[in-house]
Amino acid sequence: MNFVIDTSLCSGHGRCYTLAPEWFDADDIGYGQVKDAPVPDGERARTADIVAACPEGAISVKEG
Ligand code: SF4
Repeated sequence: MNFVIDTSLCSGHGRCYTLAPEWFDADDIGYGQVKDAPVPDGERARTADIVAACPEGAISVKEG
């Protein structure tokens, strides 16, 4: 399971990397980037909160 950011929607609010720096980082101008760090099954409950925290609806979760 991994997070995905739709870069056409991301506006750089930074909530993703503030809330979950273990899975997100900022690029040079503050837009979110997904780190190469899979989400363990035990953290599944957090994923909905992180998806919901993006004001642009740019974050989704890819299974697998
Ligand atoms: S919270 Fe959403 S809009 Fe903000 S940086 Fe992260 S993906 Fe982009």
